[in-house]
Amino acid sequence: MRVGDNFCPGILHAVPAKDGLLLRIRVPGGLISAEELCAIARLSSAYSDGQIEITSRANIQLRAIRDEALSPVVQGLRTAGLLPSPGHDRVRNIMTSPLAGLDAEELVDTRPLVRELDERFLADPVFMDLHPKFSFGIDGGGRWFSRETDDVSLRAVKVGDGIVFRLSIGGVSSGFGVGADRVVDCMLEAARMCLRVCKELEIPVRARALLASPGAVERVLEGLSALLVPCVGSEDGRAFLEAPLGVQAMAGSEFVSVVPSVPLGRITAGQAHLMAGLAKEWSGDLRLAPWRGVVLGAIPRGAADGVVSSLRAVGLPDDGRDGYRGLSACAGNTGCEASLADVRGDAVRLADSLASSLAGRDARPGWTVNISGCEKQCAMRKGATVELVATELGYSVKIEGVTVPSVCSSNSAIEAIVAHHARLDPEAYS
Ligand code: SF4
Repeated sequence: MRVGDNFCPGILHAVPAKDGLLLRIRVPGGLISAEELCAIARLSSAYSDGQIEITSRANIQLRAIRDEALSPVVQGLRTAGLLPSPGHDRVRNIMTSPLAGLDAEELVDTRPLVRELDERFLADPVFMDLHPKFSFGIDGGGRWFSRETDDVSLRAVKVGDGIVFRLSIGGVSSGFGVGADRVVDCMLEAARMCLRVCKELEIPVRARALLASPGAVERVLEGLSALLVPCVGSEDGRAFLEAPLGVQAMAGSEFVSVVPSVPLGRITAGQAHLMAGLAKEWSGDLRLAPWRGVVLGAIPRGAADGVVSSLRAVGLPDDGRDGYRGLSACAGNTGCEASLADVRGDAVRLADSLASSLAGRDARPGWTVNISGCEKQCAMRKGATVELVATELGYSVKIEGVTVPSVCSSNSAIEAIVAHHARLDPEAYS
């Protein structure tokens, strides 16, 4: 177990933050069992701040852990099976759609691929050397919600009568793909080649470092040539800007998924227990989502209203009327020394103001707001409608990509944002 500032957090790598120690728990594909979520919730109640934070890579963070509580938290996570390989503790980012197996638009249910990839990945110590931020994306060809660029990704596309997974490196299509039966082989081999080439070139093991080194990506592809077939096409603009909310029907199925609003990406231990209980009661499942939310999957259609009511009762509504739709904030001044403002408090006040102005209506589709405590902008997502960045003098505000000439107080920023939301949808507010 290590404690220090200079590494990415894991379970065995605690990072000190302003509010205490921070741990990050790997959840490949965001696929988490009810038992695992309950175990994390119990530990959070006992040793942390009673909150569970979902990251944009669909992993989990526990914050505000006291020094003396670190050992029991680590032991508890280990007992819950959440530390299957100490060596791979921080090498963990396997992304897939949180609607995998539920999305009528998908070509392939990627969950078995995610599980196989993780199993084989953990079995090979060579992958311990990957950069902690290295990420794999397996995309079944349906809706894709992650705004992050994966180092290596494979996306299912139709080619003639068959399906090929198109390979991209650092978000750039390689011009090649792999058959559905070799997806995991290709992922692992791609990671091996990235390691080999990056080590030879003495660059970080990240796709963007490969892309910046002439000929490096070609060398990776050369190592994969036995697996690859030509497959042209581009990945540009395929991510959905907005997270789904509410009851999502599955075509031709008697099951639905229920997607609640998760304010600022955090759920309480009590909310986690409730969601786990609902998933168990209805034999559904749970997925963490890269929009920093949760999906209750495979809920019988007839049970959906009851599930929605139970979630609403604990502060997890199924619509954007709470003002939190698209709203994202970094750790802020309670969790981060660098923060120049109470960004989470300001985010709550913004959500309240938006909710009042919405007067029972849903927030505008596509609406996104990022609030960051400093220029580093950890909470930043590409293409947000509004970006607020705290400075020494107040908030710098960017609306629809245009920077407002002068910085302003949090109250003025909130007023400007609410007014802009109203301007976008004048009929609803007339
Ligand atoms: S954006 Fe700045 S203040 Fe916010 S978490 Fe990142 S480093 Fe801290």
